[in-house]
Amino acid sequence: MKTRRPAKPAAKARPAARGSRAARRVYFFGAGKADGTAGMKDLLGGKGANLAEMTNLGVPVPPGFTISTAECHEYTKAGGRISAALKKDALAALAKVEKLIGMTFGNASNPLLVSVRSGARASMPGMMDTILNLGLNQKTVKGLAASADGRFAYDSFRRFIQMYADVVLNVPRERFESRLEALKEARGKHLDTELGADDWEQLVHEYLDLVLKETGKAFPQDPHEQLWGAIGAVFRSWNNERAIRYRRLNDIPESWGTAVNVQAMVFGNMGDDCATGVAFTRDPSTGENTFYGEYLKNAQGEDVVAGIRTPQPINKRARRKDQAHLPTLEEEMPSAYRELVRIYKGLEKHYRDMQDIEFTIQRGKLWMLQTRNGKRTVRAAVKIAVDMARERLITREQAVQRVDPRALDQLLHPTLDPRAVKKVVARGLPASPGAAVGNVVFNADEAEARAKAGEKVILVRIETSPEDIHGMHAAEGILTARGGMTSHAAVVARGMGKCCVAGCGQILIDYAKGEMRIEGHVVAAGDPITIDGSTGEVMLGSVPTVTPELGGEFSELMKWADQFRKLRVRTNADTPNDAKIARQFGAEGIGLCRTEHMFFEPNRILAVREMILASDLPKRRRALDKLLPMQRGDFTEIFRAMEGLPVTIRLLDPPLHEFLPHEDDEIREVAANLGTNAAEVRAKIDSLKEFNPMLGHRGCRLGITFPEIYAMQVRAIVEAACEVAQSGVRVQPEIMVPLVAHVGELSRLRKLIEDEIAGVLAEHKGVKVKPTIGTMIEVPRAALVAEAIARYADFFSFGTNDLTQMTYALSRDDAGKFLSYYQESGILEDDPFVSIDEEGVGALIRIGVENGRKTRRDLKVGICGEHGGDPKSVKFCARVGLDYVSCSPYRVPVARLAAAQAALEAGAAKPKVRGR
Ligand code: PEP
Ligand code: MG
Repeated sequence: MKTRRPAKPAAKARPAARGSRAARRVYFFGAGKADGTAGMKDLLGGKGANLAEMTNLGVPVPPGFTISTAECHEYTKAGGRISAALKKDALAALAKVEKLIGMTFGNASNPLLVSVRSGARASMPGMMDTILNLGLNQKTVKGLAASADGRFAYDSFRRFIQMYADVVLNVPRERFESRLEALKEARGKHLDTELGADDWEQLVHEYLDLVLKETGKAFPQDPHEQLWGAIGAVFRSWNNERAIRYRRLNDIPESWGTAVNVQAMVFGNMGDDCATGVAFTRDPSTGENTFYGEYLKNAQGEDVVAGIRTPQPINKRARRKDQAHLPTLEEEMPSAYRELVRIYKGLEKHYRDMQDIEFTIQRGKLWMLQTRNGKRTVRAAVKIAVDMARERLITREQAVQRVDPRALDQLLHPTLDPRAVKKVVARGLPASPGAAVGNVVFNADEAEARAKAGEKVILVRIETSPEDIHGMHAAEGILTARGGMTSHAAVVARGMGKCCVAGCGQILIDYAKGEMRIEGHVVAAGDPITIDGSTGEVMLGSVPTVTPELGGEFSELMKWADQFRKLRVRTNADTPNDAKIARQFGAEGIGLCRTEHMFFEPNRILAVREMILASDLPKRRRALDKLLPMQRGDFTEIFRAMEGLPVTIRLLDPPLHEFLPHEDDEIREVAANLGTNAAEVRAKIDSLKEFNPMLGHRGCRLGITFPEIYAMQVRAIVEAACEVAQSGVRVQPEIMVPLVAHVGELSRLRKLIEDEIAGVLAEHKGVKVKPTIGTMIEVPRAALVAEAIARYADFFSFGTNDLTQMTYALSRDDAGKFLSYYQESGILEDDPFVSIDEEGVGALIRIGVENGRKTRRDLKVGICGEHGGDPKSVKFCARVGLDYVSCSPYRVPVARLAAAQAALEAGAAKPKVRGR
């Protein structure tokens, strides 16, 4: 029954929704016309939308139809039943396909065969199910044998039975594979290709028997029953375990559902004038603008991806050294190749992005089976975005938005040190670049478990399958013995930005023994190895790595990002070296220099301990006098490294017991220097212990109770600043007070700091140094009373590490115990230590900024907690109007890009420059 809609004004009423898009269950495509378009991914899934788009573009696509994602939910809601209405619409679309192709589904002499494939809004490679050659039965196979040939027909039938039984009837694939192996052995054959029509026919009978035995029912012979069974199975596969896991890893909502694509089969395995392949319109590893791909002659699509046969290069440029003897598609089928080139160029222009395409050549005729935006390494993503902007295919704004800032991180990570001594024991395919060092594990569960425990692991498999996804995710890198550049391992690793060496035939893996043999070496589970996904090299032991040089397209993209962003990006750096690295990555200042790290250096710790344990002021002053020149030296170097950029230096923060000795001889040494005995020092150490080390006598409270410590630090900062300024280098020191909760703390310390600054400046007449004084906001109370605190602060910096701990009453180390449960059950979307959440820490930041600026409109506000390098949090910071974020040196480019995207998303970016 239809529900009545509220009446609308007549003028706005539209004609009844007959055939209206929203109401459709099934979308037809074929012969240059499709019901759908590329913009309809929500309803048609990525694959279906692109099949429709290609059809509309006049690209040769086998006709078919897409069942909408809405039907996936209907199916689940109806308890796994396909509605009569859907069946009716699907049959009508099938009839159109029959008419176009001139073949009939289920017809004994001229049978139409179809493929049934899943297709969600986002690509989920290999996660859901596919069935090929549907429509074959004991009658139609004869028709196919007569029109094509017997060998091909029975081979297709046995593939269909196996796929269907696996996907729809839950008969494990291995049962079929062992029958095939037994048959080959009985016939004395090694390869599938050596089997003839009679062999395949016999296998078909065996398979049909097997299905009967395993399920208690005969294999469905009615093609329509097969079709409904397959469609239902694809819908159900949306909720299979690996799909659910993949969704979770990739933030894909359960509510999307999958579409089902039913499409006329075309065959790449009808003979030597047939082929099937996959290609990328640009190199997915490097981003190079060259057509790149692999194909197999006389094969079906699954053979290329499964990595069972070694694919051939599509053209000379795609040829690797190990493929030197293999002919290319360009050489073997020149006219189909020319057509493919024409089509790929058109598709790339149309989609304005690098495409990942699948094609089949049936008896010399080219058919396109899929196009989608291709997965790529970050390196390739950056190059392709910049190149396409230069080619004027996209704008610079679009180029900046094309690269995922989270992925950028991988680009900035180390590769193998070229000078390192390495023992290369084997070589596979350079499937996904970067280098990885880790201990060998042979299965995905173990990889996940060990990585969780903090171990770096390399997942080594004969080949990977979608069941291994979680292990691949957890591993540093992936090494496989079998498979090509488009094998599962290679494709998935590239998508994850993970280093992968694939198809390394020299390794012999023995899962049962938990070891592998590589050219005479035995490598056991747990042994360290190194792999280089850029060269394909496999090395024994751990090889040192280095930071990559970043130039070319990367700096170009960053330059564009800098033009668009409003948020400034600083770094957290405690040493001149960190400061230098961060500046190379584009840091515009230091947002947090933690001074305590300087105290831990071996030649200083004794003086620090003397200072803390001193029983009276003169003794403390003596120790502080030793520390002063050391601190001044640190700051001088940092100011020099930053060449006039702002440097925020935080006064001492951690509870003092962190610096104290535990060993007897250390305690005796301190006692001797202080002219006291070990027992007294021990008593003092005990008195300084914090019950909860995260709280208590730390931060600005140290400055209140030991003002001379902060005074020494301020003196060191200002003296260093004067020294550098006198040498002609500009300095912008910003002195920051940690852990303020009460305005009284800051007002008192501000006075102390100002007095000390005045004292130093009086000793350096005429030197132009103007330190500012600000505070961290890292205690919830401080955010709430920001209006008062801002009276004494020139700037705020949100210390979201402490703020998260205190907001959630949770330490970072303890979070793992229940956070994943919280995330899975939907209580928390993200880990609050990684991304700022709007309601928790985010709400406090909002209050802090708004209230602080009520007092001081020009209050400079930044963030220096770990969140400053997390793209989602950076975007939040842009939205609440922060002036800058500060993060670790390696994350500076990540933050720059995220800040640019935030500005572009807000539509605030100017100027709008077209790609050049
Ligand atoms: C913070 O709390 O966010 C912060 C930057 O300080 P620390 O991590 O040193 O406590
Ligand atoms: Mg802190």
